[in-house]
Amino acid sequence: MEFVYDDQNIFAKILRGEIPNQTVFENEHALAFRDINAQAPVHVLVIPKGPYMSLDHFARDGSGDEQVGFMKAVAEVCRLEGVDAGFRAVANAREDGVQDVPHYHLHILAGRNLGPMLA
Ligand code: 5GP
Repeated sequence: MEFVYDDQNIFAKILRGEIPNQTVFENEHALAFRDINAQAPVHVLVIPKGPYMSLDHFARDGSGDEQVGFMKAVAEVCRLEGVDAGFRAVANAREDGVQDVPHYHLHILAGRNLGPMLA
């Protein structure tokens, strides 16, 4: 599959500082910020800083350092947000996954019982 990255997407603009965000955590390879339309008491989006459009794009083409940095950011979000009671991590991809923003992002949802996954 050919992955084509559009650098005009809203998360690219957030990464360039063109749009404000509520940052939860940042490291060299990833940024975590609050979702503007939170679906749970905790709803954080973790994104890689590199130009990857989806999870499968990042998993295929991201470097080891980028992938480790991303996962370390996920761990920090979980620690900082205190998700000991549990959480859900969701990555939508392309049309069938109903992905709105074409820059890979992992939703971290927590703070309430999230119910069955596809409810
Ligand atoms: P997707 O459907 O692509 O998986 O989810 C995109 C998410 O990005 C949605 O949950 C939406 O609320 C969030 N979002 C869209 N625009 C912005 C924005 O400008 N700032 C923030 N913080 N979140 C946004």
